[in-house]
Amino acid sequence: KEILLKAENVRAYYKLEKVSVKAVDGLSFEILEDEVIGVVGESGCGKTTLSNVIFMNMVKPLTLVDGKIFLRVNGEFVELSSMTRDEVKRKFWGKEITIIPQAAMNALMPTIRMEKYVRHLAESHGIDEEELLEKARRRFEEVGLDPLWIKRYPFELSGGMRQRAVIAIATILNPSLLIADEPTSALDVVNQKVLLKVLMQMKRQGIVKSIIFITHDIATVRQIADRMIIMYAGKIVEFAPVESLLEKPLHPYTQGLFNSVLTPEPEVKKRGITSIPGAPPNLINPPSGCRFHPRCPHAMDVCKEKEPPLTEIEPGRRVACWLYMEERA
Ligand code: SF4
Repeated sequence: KEILLKAENVRAYYKLEKVSVKAVDGLSFEILEDEVIGVVGESGCGKTTLSNVIFMNMVKPLTLVDGKIFLRVNGEFVELSSMTRDEVKRKFWGKEITIIPQAAMNALMPTIRMEKYVRHLAESHGIDEEELLEKARRRFEEVGLDPLWIKRYPFELSGGMRQRAVIAIATILNPSLLIADEPTSALDVVNQKVLLKVLMQMKRQGIVKSIIFITHDIATVRQIADRMIIMYAGKIVEFAPVESLLEKPLHPYTQGLFNSVLTPEPEVKKRGITSIPGAPPNLINPPSGCRFHPRCPHAMDVCKEKEPPLTEIEPGRRVACWLYMEERA
């Protein structure tokens, strides 16, 4: 599979007056064409910042302090990180990359008819309005909404329907990459299922090529993702195919996370519910070495001093932990 997006050593900090919150701190990863990546971690681990970084949605105080992000557009890599937010927005938002933000059901202004968003999109990309409206109506139908509702105001729809309307509008131009940030968290179980079905159907039909699904819900990731990124304190601690990760989590944080999460998955459940002692660190002044060391039951001397690099220890399996590396000695 071809690489669709790659991030090299990306650091994005919230630069406040006197301090910086190191929300995303040295991430390298790639997203392939035709795959779903689940990004999992506790609140405050940098998941949402990561989605803003990929989308180049840098709004002060969030600042890209280092690293590069490339997106494949028409077979060529384009460096998003060398452009301004406005440039990326104008050229690629909606067309190549799209986002379903957290609480997407509130993303539309209640008093603006939904067709207005489509007209605006047509105008900003120089596309015929009627043509795009026709496409939008079809997309509404594909996500299970009445096509005529495009004329309605968002407040006339239920929360789950509004969210599907956001997805329909966000994908009208068939973007390659869809970032879904906690899309199921505000929905009831029935609407969660509908939403996952809609997303997977869009991928199957080639409306979107790849999906980044940001969540704290491991059971959902298990259902839809090919690979999983586990984040802790602004770092990727583990990156692997979903099956192998669930079968044998390597990083002590992943092990603790899987054990602490209430999940209907029997193989995860049978390991028991234990919680990870301690709390996630303060990202203004994170712990030295491995950021998980104050909470890690296996911490060694080296863990406090040296940061473990994210390393491929088996084909396709990357982990950032000294337990798996010879060179620690
Ligand atoms: Fe624990 Fe050390 Fe591995 Fe960090 S590097 S997870 S502290 S064993």
